[in-house]
Amino acid sequence: MIVMKFGGTSVGSSDSIEKVKEIILNENRDRIVVLSAFSGVTNLLVTINQQYESNDSTIQETIIQLEERCLAVIDPLLKTTEYLKLAKQFVSIKIDQIKDVIKQPFSLENTKIIIGQGELISTNIVQLYLEEKGINSKLIGALDFMRKDVSGEPDSAYISSKINPILEQETKNIYITQGFICKDYDSSFSNLERGGSDYTASLIGAAIKASEIQIWTDIDGMHNNDPRYVENTFSLEEISFDEAAELAYFGAKILHPQSLIPAKNNNIPVLLKNTFDPYKKGTLIKNNTKTSGVSSIAAKDKITTIKIKSYRMLLAYGFLKRVFEVFEVYKTPIDMITTSEVAVSLTIDNNQFIKEIVEDLQKFGAVEVETNLSIVCVAGDFSEKKEGLSARVFNALKHIPIRMISYGGSNYNISLLVKTADKINALNSLNTALFKKQLSEIDVD
Ligand code: ADP
Ligand code: ASP
Ligand code: MG
Repeated sequence: MIVMKFGGTSVGSSDSIEKVKEIILNENRDRIVVLSAFSGVTNLLVTINQQYESNDSTIQETIIQLEERCLAVIDPLLKTTEYLKLAKQFVSIKIDQIKDVIKQPFSLENTKIIIGQGELISTNIVQLYLEEKGINSKLIGALDFMRKDVSGEPDSAYISSKINPILEQETKNIYITQGFICKDYDSSFSNLERGGSDYTASLIGAAIKASEIQIWTDIDGMHNNDPRYVENTFSLEEISFDEAAELAYFGAKILHPQSLIPAKNNNIPVLLKNTFDPYKKGTLIKNNTKTSGVSSIAAKDKITTIKIKSYRMLLAYGFLKRVFEVFEVYKTPIDMITTSEVAVSLTIDNNQFIKEIVEDLQKFGAVEVETNLSIVCVAGDFSEKKEGLSARVFNALKHIPIRMISYGGSNYNISLLVKTADKINALNSLNTALFKKQLSEIDVD
């Protein structure tokens, strides 16, 4: 069995859903199809939730926009009056549910219920569409098997113990399910964070021991640089799990940051493909690929640095442990870290508890905070055999102030911290310096 995940743009219109159907039918292995919400729908739901929280009366207009967005997909998609009626009824039930939820006092659980409705709508509509076409698919509810544990991490053992019996109940060749949504350990409605449908696909792949996980999106695989900021990027044919995971974590939006972990742990290849150009090769992510040189560059924004200067650090042991404990208390992950004899600088991407963290750290010494920074991640083979590669990276950035460097933590990347205002310049300069040869070899049209 394989997993096929289709993102928001792939199910964003009647035309693209027809393309998705062709891609599903072109596959002859048994498959679980994981769908995101129609593009733009989760954003509308996030707005509705913000308006709900702030008691904003324009919420009613946003709900109308949401309904219109769904009807714009449904109207041209379903051809028979019977199925069109069923689809419209479903959307109207979901809209009524949202209207009921926002009558209740604001709560985090209601936030999660609202934000998760997009995937429930898209999967039900696509299932109706496939049924109308006489395709024998079955909709299975992600909330019946996707769950997090007490620490907020996906509960792999639970997922596996629930999904496999569901699949054994009835043998179908095509199952449809929701990406993104799940339950918390206490059975309340939850999700895997924005972009989380990729993570769903990988978790399901691991749970059912899939032979392949396919991620279908609006671009032909992982590119060598961020196509939103750099022109003439090109698709990578193959990349290792370790490199792809670094890139996803450090900003390559094509994949949710954690989504490769279950696939890598179970050695399941992940294929990134373009729904709008399905015959293009795409990118294969797997173990043991042979990378030489730099494979790709990504950047992650909204980074904050915290510098703690303390003479108590001089020749002391246990100092870093106490610093890290502060971040543990506030469940705030650290991305980069550098130390000198009297100072330690680290970066975080979540400022929710910054005030509390700084207050606690001030017990150890002087604390400085800097915001609006970006981490630029250069992924590739930086093993000791590749002398000269890091020099090329630094040379490319000689005109850009670098705030922090992380090198040597793994053989797969160098991370550099720059001001966000310098990010696009850094990505483009690195592109020219590191990929000139490859660029001249590809067709750029
Ligand atoms: P989906 O809705 O299918 O999940 P996303 O918008 O989350 O799609 O991810 C695809 C987008 O990721 C692309 O359209 C592209 O703009 C962006 N992207 C950022 N970095 C990269 C990269 N290195 N390679 C490919 N796409 C990237
Ligand atoms: N619909 C969710 C989002 O927009 C999840 C996803 O698309 O992966 O974040
Ligand atoms: Mg995505």
